[in-house]
Amino acid sequence: MTGYAKIRTWFLAGFAFFAVIAAATFIRNLTWEDASYGIVNAHGVIERLEELSFQTKDAEDQVRTFLANPDRHDLERCLLNLQRARDLAGQIESMAADNPAHDSPAQRRYTRTIRDLVDRQRETLAEAARSARPEALAAALTSLDSAGFDFNLRSAVLALETEERGILRDRSAFQDRTAGSGRILLATVVLGFLVLAFVGCRRILTDLEERAAMERALIAKEEQYRKVVELAGDAICRTDEQGRFTFCNQAALAMLHFDRNEVLGRSYLKLIRQDKRRQATRFYLRQFGRRQKNTYYEFPIVDGHGVERWIGQNVQLVLEADKIVGFQAIARDISERKRVELELRKNRRFIERIAATTPGVLYVYDLVEQRNIYKNREGFAVLGYAAEGIRETPGLLYKVLHPDDLPLMRAHHEALRYAQDGEVRRIEYRARHNAGHWVWISGRDTPFERGPDGLVNQIVGISQDITARKAAQDRLAYQANYDSLTGLANRHQLWTRLQGILRRGSIDNSETAICLFDIDRFKEINDHFGHAAGDEVLEAVGGVVRAELRATDVAGRLGGDEFCFVLPCADDNEAARVAERIRDRLSTLAFGMGSGSTFSVTATFGVAKAAPDMDAKEVIEAADRALYRAKSAGRNRVMVEC
Ligand code: GH3
Ligand code: MG
Repeated sequence: MTGYAKIRTWFLAGFAFFAVIAAATFIRNLTWEDASYGIVNAHGVIERLEELSFQTKDAEDQVRTFLANPDRHDLERCLLNLQRARDLAGQIESMAADNPAHDSPAQRRYTRTIRDLVDRQRETLAEAARSARPEALAAALTSLDSAGFDFNLRSAVLALETEERGILRDRSAFQDRTAGSGRILLATVVLGFLVLAFVGCRRILTDLEERAAMERALIAKEEQYRKVVELAGDAICRTDEQGRFTFCNQAALAMLHFDRNEVLGRSYLKLIRQDKRRQATRFYLRQFGRRQKNTYYEFPIVDGHGVERWIGQNVQLVLEADKIVGFQAIARDISERKRVELELRKNRRFIERIAATTPGVLYVYDLVEQRNIYKNREGFAVLGYAAEGIRETPGLLYKVLHPDDLPLMRAHHEALRYAQDGEVRRIEYRARHNAGHWVWISGRDTPFERGPDGLVNQIVGISQDITARKAAQDRLAYQANYDSLTGLANRHQLWTRLQGILRRGSIDNSETAICLFDIDRFKEINDHFGHAAGDEVLEAVGGVVRAELRATDVAGRLGGDEFCFVLPCADDNEAARVAERIRDRLSTLAFGMGSGSTFSVTATFGVAKAAPDMDAKEVIEAADRALYRAKSAGRNRVMVEC
């Protein structure tokens, strides 16, 4: 609980305590008044009882005086006394009744008796007195005597007096008690007050001590803070709301190249380079106007030595009671950074110009983020995108990459992660063009930047569209290996494939069969129907061969009208069966002669089986021998070399 809260609690408790005391005092006063009234009342009743006794006795004495010496004045006085006695009896009755706190049946009975006795005396004596006849008066006295009036009245008066004195005693005793409790209350009040005053004073003293200690600590802290600010590495300044320096630490003075006296009272806006001054002034006026708590701004200044330097500063508003009384700035000399930035900008412009004029795609690719962090215009055009039409999202390259080239690209990038500086790695891959077709791209990549782990993070590369070149290469490769007329392998390709199949056969220990066939009297076809018809025949024969073979078989045209097919994992019987099938199919072919008539062709087949360790030449020679025998035997047949 804070000191203030403690004091408040104590004073609330004190207030409650005094409120209770005040209520008790008020109640005590009421009872005191009540008791006092009872005492006064009882005294009044007693006084009136004494007077009443005197009046009644006096009335009787005046009657007796009259009887001894008749004088009408005595009777008149007697009547007055009787009247007075009656009034007193009435007063006594009402006073006794007016004391409700002590209204007892005995009291009521005595006051009534007294009133009745006084009434009877009055009635008895007043009537006789008005007649003024001595005998009547004597008779009245006698009647009163005989009725024991005096005795009864005195008894009743005495009894009532006793009762009232009892009341007096009770009230006095009660008042004594009340006075006692009053003294206790007073003593309690005094004690409570003293306790409160003691506690309050102690609290206030403690508070004062604590506050003094806090103030001392605050002053010490401020002093510490002042020292920290004074010796801080950053330049720290304060200005008034007009921007005039009110404080500069040592770092600020060193940065500005001014001494303290030169700088204090000077407007820091005046230090800003002329061309930027208006802009900076507007900036800080806006901060002032919008009450922006914190801003950062960079501007050039001219220091005390006339040297221009760039400053970057955080400026905070200094507020006092919600009113801006100045600015506080933490500033840094950023001249070096600005110089580097300028250099960089120049370099970037230079590189951008190179990139823009470089034929092909130039890019910097982040291997970790898997995205290009730079790409020249060509980089977008190569895949049919406008420069602004594509957003370089992570993994984009892998999304447009041909699925077959995915492992290749991954391996390429992985190798680049561990590449040496200056090492160039090449790759050729396919990527999907915006129009949907595949584009062949050839890339040359080299490390650009490394991460903290020493691995290459970014690569720089150059790539180009080689789709046309690839197509030309493919065409050349096709032309080099395939017969353009029939689409079958040419001699060279067939030779190579045969060698491969034989090698595999020797490893697998599987058989290989080969068949050479030659169109019968083909020269005559050429001669009779023309070279084009001959070509048509060659083409058709190629089609038949292709249709009759398995995907694993190889067929080729060795040259002229001579064909060959190789059946891996097959023996010479199987090859002879296939040859027969082809021979049958060929005999069914009909070729047009232009005039509606047709001609057909036949062919002669020589089959051989590759014995173990036979090379391609030997196998072909064996098949050729069979073919020769078949030709000699009359053509249009299949013969197997034994
Ligand atoms: P044989 O039954 O003994 O084989 O008699 P042949 O007439 O078929 O004789 P040969 O096989 O020696 O003749 C081959 C002919 O094929 C010679 C050549 O004019 C012709 N020829 C070679 N290449 C082509 C070609 O590309 N197109 C056409 N139309 N004819 C060709
Ligand atoms: Mg021939």
